[in-house]
Amino acid sequence: QLGAMQDWSLRVTRFIDHAAREHGGREIVSRWADGSETRTTWAGIRHDAMRMAQKLAKLGIKPGDRVATLAMNHHRHLVTWYGAVGVGGVLHTINPRLFDDQLDYIANHAEDRVLLFDAAFAPIIERMKSRWKTIEHYVCFDSNGPAEHFEDWIASEDGEGVWVDGDERDPCMLCYTSGTTGNPKGVLYEHRSTVLHAMTAMTPQVFGMDCRTVALPIVPMFHAASWGLPWAGAAAGAKFVYSAVNEASVLCELMEREKVTTSAGVPTVWLSLLQYIDANGKDIPAHLNTVVCGGSAMPRAMIERFMKKGLRVAHAWGMTETSPIGTTGTETANWDELSFDEQVTVKAMQGRVPFGVELRCVDLDDATRVLPRDGKTSGALQVRGPWVVGRYFKAEKPATDADNWFDTGDVAVLHPDGTLQLTDRTKDVIKSGGEWISSVELENAAIGFPGVAEAAAIGVHHPRWDERPLLVVVKKPGADVCPDALRDFLGTHVAKWWLPDAVVFVDEIPHTGTGKISKKDLRDQFRDWQWS
Ligand code: ADP
Repeated sequence: QLGAMQDWSLRVTRFIDHAAREHGGREIVSRWADGSETRTTWAGIRHDAMRMAQKLAKLGIKPGDRVATLAMNHHRHLVTWYGAVGVGGVLHTINPRLFDDQLDYIANHAEDRVLLFDAAFAPIIERMKSRWKTIEHYVCFDSNGPAEHFEDWIASEDGEGVWVDGDERDPCMLCYTSGTTGNPKGVLYEHRSTVLHAMTAMTPQVFGMDCRTVALPIVPMFHAASWGLPWAGAAAGAKFVYSAVNEASVLCELMEREKVTTSAGVPTVWLSLLQYIDANGKDIPAHLNTVVCGGSAMPRAMIERFMKKGLRVAHAWGMTETSPIGTTGTETANWDELSFDEQVTVKAMQGRVPFGVELRCVDLDDATRVLPRDGKTSGALQVRGPWVVGRYFKAEKPATDADNWFDTGDVAVLHPDGTLQLTDRTKDVIKSGGEWISSVELENAAIGFPGVAEAAAIGVHHPRWDERPLLVVVKKPGADVCPDALRDFLGTHVAKWWLPDAVVFVDEIPHTGTGKISKKDLRDQFRDWQWS
């Protein structure tokens, strides 16, 4: 060897050590559902996480064992993230909004040994306890809960231990996809993949975090690793403000009072925040400068609104399988030469990859045919990189092809500069007379029509065209929507042959456990639809 650099394994416990050492006094604020608040620091989080790791070790939790949570966002949940990985365990964040059969399946499939939960989810524990075969210890994050209180549980430990060390390719976290078809699938993140992902998350192209950042992650800690924020925030030394409830009034008040600069959440949450602001004659919180939004497409009107206020909008695309950062819509090199309208158009797309992620589109019917990045041709989106799934938890076969390409299930167009524009999901595109219609574009256009609260477009069998679009609409309370006027309006946004052959009004559109429209249920509902 001519020389060498040091061995310094990329383990996620490095984050909390760094945060406690270099940003130890930086605050972590939790606002609980009952309105009370707890304030601690990164040093405090590390101390408690170490106590938790000591406790887990005493209970016989070994490297690789799964430690699960069923909880909203608060500092004890954050402590648990680091405590679970600190003993070499695998943190498994369970989504409490899943249906019972999914909850049953994933906790058993994960073979969780410990479950830490919010008292608010006690009814779930009550229902599921007899079905969960592997959970030995239940611990409650609230003092009034039906199991030992977290603080009492770790009270006997002194926080003077050391983290359990291991290989950087060891697993540290397990997240299940909600599984719109079949059983949920577990994605097993590794220490190394998580560190690389978090270092990317900190960069200006994504969250743009440093020690001056005050972050309020609205994205739940149980959804897609909270977009990596608990790790990236520690690396950056950011202040965190957590709220265990997602009510707009609470979020706004916290953002104002704690001088929150950065927040991240799905479009529906941002929508309710803006509605609250308008209804109460308030303004966008004064210190907010970065809005990260993903999980579904960010509506153009929302982007405009934030940009007009001078906020930095990062429209992100990703999925549980990509840890989840895939692309972010940040400023392009020629940004200053673009008109405001053109800038909004750029942001309304899903953005570009950071270093570490590669994308390509292939033909929907022939995956061996790689499509050009011409801004026109749409195809099946594939992704690869060090924080993209290789093989699902307990799966025998890889989740990718021989060249590591993972099929996202999304349909997209890639532009010459690499900008990603999602057009649909593979399962949801509507095939009419051999041509593809984007259900998402129809829906996005439809929600721009007055009186439309929610809309979903699905393909329904048609004797002549194979499939034709049916638009299912939920009206706003008290609103009247004329189907012909709606169709005329859609005609100004999409091609004539894309227009839905029928519009039906329903009281409710079915949703999945993560709050997205369940097209599968909707297709089942309209399976026997007859075109008149
Ligand atoms: P699931 O919805 O299956 O539980 P995820 O929460 O991981 O899984 O969601 C990933 C999917 O969400 C992506 O494959 C994509 O279809 C959709 N998605 C994520 N971000 C965006 C975005 N910015 N615009 C449109 N769709 C998005």
